[in-house]
Amino acid sequence: MGPGCFCQKLFGVRVFIVIISPMFTGDDERYMRMAIQKARDGVAAGQTPFGACIVMADGRVAACGHNVVWKTTDITAHGEVTAIREACRALGTIDLSGSTIYSTTEPCPMCFSAIHWAKIRRIVFGASISDAKAAGFNELTLSNDLMKREGGSPVVVESGCLRAECVGLFREWKDAGWAKVY
Ligand SMILES: [Zn+2]
Repeated sequence: MGPGCFCQKLFGVRVFIVIISPMFTGDDERYMRMAIQKARDGVAAGQTPFGACIVMADGRVAACGHNVVWKTTDITAHGEVTAIREACRALGTIDLSGSTIYSTTEPCPMCFSAIHWAKIRRIVFGASISDAKAAGFNELTLSNDLMKREGGSPVVVESGCLRAECVGLFREWKDAGWAKVY
């Protein structure tokens, strides 16, 4: 391995560090707290601990939703899909260009695809897919970074916003006493 390879590798490590430690703004945390509240609403309603909010470029909150898989007997009714459906209905469009989706957990491949189709500009999430798998969910462990890279999606992915609170939602859900995975 020549010096060029070493430098490239060193540079790669630096880029990786930037990706896992983005600087979130106060607005990002405020919107993520709305998603966290939605997840708590879901837990209180007997659902799983996943919430999401979609915020337009001008700061308008288009929709917030939580997972309603059990309530609706719909395996596709994840928090992100629920929020996308509501935002599109409210705005009368399938094009959410310029918006950001705040999700308490890293979107699964189904939700990542819906985000891509809706042309959402940016994904901000707290807990990772691995955290959800550790909590018992039957996750396909494909990271958003991997799906973005391999799929060629222009969406911006930022991880770890209020991560401790988002991971803590799994504990809150289990403490509720009736936690049921799928
Ligand atoms: Zn999903």
